[in-house]
Amino acid sequence: DVLIIGSGAAGLSAALNLPESCKVAMISKGRINDGSTWWAQGGIAAVMNNEDSIEQHVKDTLKAGAGLCHEESVEYTVRNSRPAIDWLIDQGVQFTREEADQDKYHLTKEGGHSQRRIIHSADATGVAVHSALIDQAEARENLTILTDHIAIDLVTQADRDSTKYRCTGAYIYSLSDDEVHLYQAKAVILATGGASKVYLYTSNPDGCSGDGIAMAWRAGCRVANMEFNQFHPTCLFHPEARTFLLTEALRGEGAHLLLPDGSRFMDRFHEMAELAPRDVVARAIDHEMKRLGCDCVYLDISHKPADFIQSHFPTVAAECLKYGIDITKEPIPVVPAAHYTCGGVMVDKHGQTDLPNLYAIGETSFTGLHGANRMASNSLLECIVYGTASARHITDRLDSIKQPEYQPEWDESRVTDSDEDVVISHNWDELRRFMWDYVGIVRTGKRLERANHRIKLLQKEIEEYYSNYKVGNDLIELRNLSDVAQLIIRSAMARKESRGLHYSLDFPNLKQFARDTILMPLNF
Ligand code: FAD
Repeated sequence: DVLIIGSGAAGLSAALNLPESCKVAMISKGRINDGSTWWAQGGIAAVMNNEDSIEQHVKDTLKAGAGLCHEESVEYTVRNSRPAIDWLIDQGVQFTREEADQDKYHLTKEGGHSQRRIIHSADATGVAVHSALIDQAEARENLTILTDHIAIDLVTQADRDSTKYRCTGAYIYSLSDDEVHLYQAKAVILATGGASKVYLYTSNPDGCSGDGIAMAWRAGCRVANMEFNQFHPTCLFHPEARTFLLTEALRGEGAHLLLPDGSRFMDRFHEMAELAPRDVVARAIDHEMKRLGCDCVYLDISHKPADFIQSHFPTVAAECLKYGIDITKEPIPVVPAAHYTCGGVMVDKHGQTDLPNLYAIGETSFTGLHGANRMASNSLLECIVYGTASARHITDRLDSIKQPEYQPEWDESRVTDSDEDVVISHNWDELRRFMWDYVGIVRTGKRLERANHRIKLLQKEIEEYYSNYKVGNDLIELRNLSDVAQLIIRSAMARKESRGLHYSLDFPNLKQFARDTILMPLNF
């Protein structure tokens, strides 16, 4: 009945809220725990006690979103925050409790929040949430989980008596048999996560290539606010390291940001120096790296006692040591990195897209919650709230949705070079490098024009590969990345102001009226 593309917090929340009478297939392009959810550290924002209030959480979110949050979406999400946490606890998630009072959950405070409202599982909330939901999903008889299955494109169909298209499934490439299969469903949910892999440096794991956004766009859905890409200021920079985020708590505990010559620089950018807001720190680092032409800057906490560092930051110390960096004795090389995609596929409060029977949830979607800047820990909350909402909406409608009519199987007759894999690693590198250089933390009209020129050429090249070679994961991702890159560039070019996460040297000020950037597909 239902096909869910993606097995992160959003996809699993939807799957587990569908009734057991409903047949569900959930696919993941890699392992079941691939995606960003597993890597979430801080926690989930929710109104958990009487010192806090829904109004206060709403107010903080609106402030962070710099005039672009949709108030009804913020209110809806925040109002559902406590039920979302209760549901997670019912699914078996173990949140950290107060040491002095084991009946109470421990709440932390993060940037932008006026209250302590971040419920967490030590510093690995993602693992706790994801593993509990995976356990529940694996026990469900109505749910088939297919790993190493990669959705390529959505299938749409017009009824004989109508010209309006609806979504009826997807073409899915299976790594196990190296074939593309047609999956038909009454409803399809896109829960494929964000698109931060479009940038050279990212805190996201492999696979965050914006597949759901690109697929929905190609199928005729509107996409909004793609210019708002959140960059985390400090990720470990090492040629052999997987991307590793260096928590803001390091700066909170006195770590200094240093240039390659050992001098501090943040006080030139903000009176709070290293403790300035996240986007200010990211912009300052980017500015210095471009000015000096260096690959990274350094984060140094080695002036603190070694036992303090070891006891406060054991995970960071251990991860850095894997690459020969002893943080008790030397500075850590860091770069800012793309962290979160605020824009996405436009949906209503049920997660419904413009295409009937197609839903989008989690980081893939644009609900209006985040506006121009996501407030920390609101994203996992959005996954659970909208995952649940989409499942409820589908449940109510399932009986009235027509079974899809038979569609053609995937056509590979166009492929002329079926035995050969096309070499595309240079295209991957080129795309991610020019997105970083021209469409990164600080933008100008000229740099965006350059990126626009490059992306058009690259898209042509990719379409050629697509018509001549057999598809595989790399080609599917490269095509999606190039579509998403084009959406980001177009959105950034359209915004003639600096707001939230979008900063343009040509338009450094705010415009009076705040507007979303909505991109209409050709066939809308
Ligand atoms: P994901 O968890 O990214 O899952 C995507 C799924 O889609 C995966 O299963 C993937 O395999 C699948 N997929 C993708 N494309 C395809 C395809 N073509 N075919 C088949 N399957 C596909 N948020 C918070 O609220 N609090 C935090 O403390 C926090 N910390 C973070 C720390 C890090 C390092 C990172 C990277 C993010 C953090 N975030 C945090 C953000 C948050 O983790 C994500 O926004 C959220 O987990 C996204 O969940 P999702 O279900 O939408 O997607």
